[in-house]
Amino acid sequence: MNFEYNEDQLAVKEMAKTFSETELMPYASEWDQKEIFPVETLKKAAELGLAAIYVDDRYGGSGLSRLHAAIIFEELSRGCVSTAAYISIHNMVTWMIDTHGSDDVKKRFIPKLSTMEIMSSYCLTEPGSGSDAVALKTKAAKQGNSHYLLNGSKSFISGGPTSDVFAVMCRTGEEGAAGVSCLLVEKGTKGLTFGKQEKKMGWNSQHTSMVNFDNCEIPIDNLVGNEGDGFKIAMKGLDGGRVNIAACSLGGARAALEASLNYAAERKQFGKSLDKFQVTQFKLADMATELEASRLMVLRAACALDTHDKQATKLCAMAKRYATDICSEICNMALQIHGGYGYLKDFPLERLVRDLRVHQILEGTNEIMRVIISRHLKTN
Ligand SMILES: Cc1cc2nc3c(=O)[nH]c(=O)nc-3n(C[C@H](O)[C@H](O)[C@H](O)COP(=O)(O)OP(=O)(O)OC[C@H]3O[C@@H](n4cnc5c(N)ncnc54)[C@H](O)[C@@H]3O)c2cc1C
Repeated sequence: MNFEYNEDQLAVKEMAKTFSETELMPYASEWDQKEIFPVETLKKAAELGLAAIYVDDRYGGSGLSRLHAAIIFEELSRGCVSTAAYISIHNMVTWMIDTHGSDDVKKRFIPKLSTMEIMSSYCLTEPGSGSDAVALKTKAAKQGNSHYLLNGSKSFISGGPTSDVFAVMCRTGEEGAAGVSCLLVEKGTKGLTFGKQEKKMGWNSQHTSMVNFDNCEIPIDNLVGNEGDGFKIAMKGLDGGRVNIAACSLGGARAALEASLNYAAERKQFGKSLDKFQVTQFKLADMATELEASRLMVLRAACALDTHDKQATKLCAMAKRYATDICSEICNMALQIHGGYGYLKDFPLERLVRDLRVHQILEGTNEIMRVIISRHLKTN
């Protein structure tokens, strides 16, 4: 067991840190307040290989590991949680196509996804099926050998109206997981429409909306994997997505801890700086300890994905549950250390609290993480 990053991992970490500090951190507050989706910045991230991190280099991916991705997402989210999280979702879709798509599908989509010439969304949730994702109703009916006719609606879709390609889990067969397939729906398809841009508590640098399909004709060639593979593909995608989202929580909590260390050294009350009070020292010590524990779980889960460990699904769920809960608490403690100033938009704390809150809900709620963990307790 080796707890040191190797030279290659350190180089990737440094690259992501520099990008985050120069291209994300200075603009995160403005993007949040004005709800700006920073397309040009995302394309710059893609130039560094960050849009297809753990995707084969054959069609333009970076060919790195899940461990690299976890390191990268911690750094990016230290600069802007919401933008890093969108990059994470785009990577999840690109990976799903690379791992399960035909050569034709890979050739058509991955080069453009790798450069972010096209942006992607992951479409699983529906108005009537959130946690119970397998109950999804969006239906794709095969019409001869040329196309499917797609009907239904997906809710809460990150990227929504700004995306160019949508990985849609839909029903091509019977009730249950075996009747679900994954289809790629392209922007411009007749019958594809979007709901209003949702007004959210956080994650404001990426847009979220419903995505509706009204008799959309989707070419059979846009099927990812075989008919009936969709639910498995969606769940495998989420294993990695959960590690990335957990890593995004690490970056947000690290930013909050760093801000607190600076603030506690500067702010004086009762004739001394806050960091001279033992209560503040203990808070900071707990925050740093819990951040380190979360990081260890995230890196462990990422390694489990890289080695195809049979415990990977459980470890990803554990890391997501623990890191997203604990890192949210760290941000909240950081806000408390900042007193009233923590509540103002002049400081990053209130944004960090808002941005991390949703990590406890999406990619499977933390209650559903416990369901997954408890299901796997006896199998290892
Ligand atoms: C900002 C944002 C972005 C999102 N982006 C995407 C996206 O890009 N693509 C996508 O497909 N989805 C996306 N989602 C949807 C997200 O994954 C769902 O909101 C989430 O899975 C929960 O579903 P739900 O909201 O329908 O809640 P519900 O499933 O209705 O759950 C409500 C509550 O009941 C609890 N609960 C439900 N079932 C159980 C159970 N069996 N045991 C214990 N407790 C249970 C839940 O934990 C939760 O607390 C996004 C959501 C948000 C808020």
